[in-house]
Amino acid sequence: MDTRNVVRFLRSLQNDPPFYEDCYEVPVCAACHNRPGVACCSHCQTAWYCSRHCRKAHYNKGHKQICCVIVEAQNRVNRMAIPLRRLFETQVGNFISFRETRAYLEACCDLMDLYVQAAQTAASNDVWEKALFYALEVQRLEATGLVEVRSVNPFLLLNLHRDDDAFNFMRYWMKSQGTLEETRDSLLPFHEGTQKGDWIYPREPKCRFLNFFETCPDRNDRNVPVEFLVALLIIKCRILVAIGATCKSANLALGSVNGQRIHEVHSTVTEMVIDGELVNIESQRQQADQLVDAIHRENAIILPAILNPAPLLNSELPQSGARAAQCEEALNVLMYCARCLLRVSGAKEMLERRFGHNPSYSV
Ligand SMILES: [Zn+2]
Ligand SMILES: [Zn+2]
Repeated sequence: MDTRNVVRFLRSLQNDPPFYEDCYEVPVCAACHNRPGVACCSHCQTAWYCSRHCRKAHYNKGHKQICCVIVEAQNRVNRMAIPLRRLFETQVGNFISFRETRAYLEACCDLMDLYVQAAQTAASNDVWEKALFYALEVQRLEATGLVEVRSVNPFLLLNLHRDDDAFNFMRYWMKSQGTLEETRDSLLPFHEGTQKGDWIYPREPKCRFLNFFETCPDRNDRNVPVEFLVALLIIKCRILVAIGATCKSANLALGSVNGQRIHEVHSTVTEMVIDGELVNIESQRQQADQLVDAIHRENAIILPAILNPAPLLNSELPQSGARAAQCEEALNVLMYCARCLLRVSGAKEMLERRFGHNPSYSV
């Protein structure tokens, strides 16, 4: 997405803080924020309402704008697909080799971005699913992937709480690096026989507990994209929260035993069973710390900007050079996953211990 549009959108979010803590299975009415949404906007299908009254009020209050843009983008994608029918049957995985398919891939990316914007305000998994569908689709059509979609794909999965899939996805890309031709040859078989929007990546359940850099032996935190590092940090923070909750219930369960005993248990147990997996607490914490260090070393704007976006959103941004690239990267993270990270309980406090409240930084 164009940097100026990202800034504009993020500023609008600042003025309109989220009314929800997380996405819900059942969406909340986008107008009154009080009752469950029972019917969605029949045009764009990205906003839910409790009543006709709320739907009308919201449409006139500003939904009209994004609604029209989304509908137009949907129509555009459908229209552009028609002349490509033959290529959809014979050239899946190979799309970038054809001139006429590039505009289609771009239109899908635009639609994905619009769904992300809508998802930020709709409080519904359904809209995140739509964004993910188009992200997966462009990557299915082109085996070498589109870098801009690849870097946001883990965030789409994390917003849907598919942490293992996000981990699998990142590992797939970190393991399949070579020249473009080699990559295409090795990955094309995964694309064969797939359907629109299919998940084509390996699936290893519970892999999120692993140390990412140990599972990709020739990778370290210096040659993994910074967006992946942020996604891994979210995964690790969520595991630490799960461990915290498990410790709490262990305390409750041991409540009848005397205090001394609880103390002993605490100091000896460094492993815990989470989701049926034996997890080493200390190792997970170290992985999270390592990720914070690595992200900050690669881009010193991202983590302070998550705590305090104002300097990034309100300054004149550099137009070229390394600094401009860093600002763009930071805006991307804010756009796709800052809320996702801040919603993990304790994550904000962890960052504040490191960077202070409202940290200042220059862009
Ligand atoms: Zn309502
Ligand atoms: Zn609509």
